[in-house]
Amino acid sequence: MNSIKNASSKHFIQQITNGNISFLSKAITLVESNSQKHYQKASEILEGCLPHANGCIRIGITGVPGVGKSTFIEAFGKYLTRLNKKVAVLAIDPTSSLNKGSILGDKTRMESLVNDKNAFIRPSPSGDSLGGVTRKTRESITLCEAAGFDYIIVETVGVGQSEVAVHGMVDFFLLLKLANAGDELQGIKRGIIEMADLIVINKADGKFEKQANLAKTEFKRALHLFPAKESEWIPEVTTSSALNNTGIENIYQILNTYLKLTKKNGYFYQQRKLQNKQWFYEAINNELKNQFYKDEKVIESISEYLNKIEKDEINPFKAAQNLLKRTTI
Ligand code: GDP
Repeated sequence: MNSIKNASSKHFIQQITNGNISFLSKAITLVESNSQKHYQKASEILEGCLPHANGCIRIGITGVPGVGKSTFIEAFGKYLTRLNKKVAVLAIDPTSSLNKGSILGDKTRMESLVNDKNAFIRPSPSGDSLGGVTRKTRESITLCEAAGFDYIIVETVGVGQSEVAVHGMVDFFLLLKLANAGDELQGIKRGIIEMADLIVINKADGKFEKQANLAKTEFKRALHLFPAKESEWIPEVTTSSALNNTGIENIYQILNTYLKLTKKNGYFYQQRKLQNKQWFYEAINNELKNQFYKDEKVIESISEYLNKIEKDEINPFKAAQNLLKRTTI
């Protein structure tokens, strides 16, 4: 591992584009790091990897804890690797940081996919800001693409805002639901349902099967009330049993139908261009903030203004304005 740590950016790029998972993994760690030194190296590696990225399909998968995401991703991932495809899974957990516990973090998740040589699974501690999640995940996607993965699955827990961010970086958005939650259109925010290209009612087995089929019909009806999508795609609703491996192939077919349509009408490519433009803005915003907060003068002034705010000598808006006016970075 030490030799990886000391490897040059050029070597990193070479190894990643050769599909070397250890280097990919270490590069993602650099991307996730908040240290300035790592940031520099991560940027160089990313720049070198960018020309090699773009060939894969990016899928967002969300759903509340317990709906069966890891079981589903394992079943779907295994299906893809059996087709000889390479699959990367990036799991974003907004509840975790490096040292806190997490919803996604337990090691038993996706055991058979973990041991599949054509799969790569990476839980991502999201750190403290949504901006952080977005940048790190986008960059991790780029690195995985350069490493030759055919499918990249980005998983979120469906409890926060990160779904919107993830929707902005994938080609296809899949929402996993339960039939018997009794909260059909409330448990998951309307906005998330609106973003979905496919809703899968999971756990359609045993005593839940009938309920799952009923929920499917209900959802199909409900989706008609949503405005038409720019992609011209009519969102699908289907069922699966991730546990029994049923419905998986059908989901793969739905994904392919979606890709065929959106590649034919150009939406797929337009969407990627739009996402790149968003990435550009995000990169500027991140860099501006980064430079601003590490500036010595800014650090000093911030502490002075905080003092004044504490003593009620200035209001926070005025303080911010004064600071921004006087600072050129
Ligand atoms: P996650 O929190 O969304 O990642 O959910 P998990 O994949 O960890 O699954 C939560 C629980 O539901 C586990 O006990 C799984 O075995 C179970 N589960 C997942 N998928 C299915 C399914 O299709 N049918 C049934 N009956 N149970 C499932």
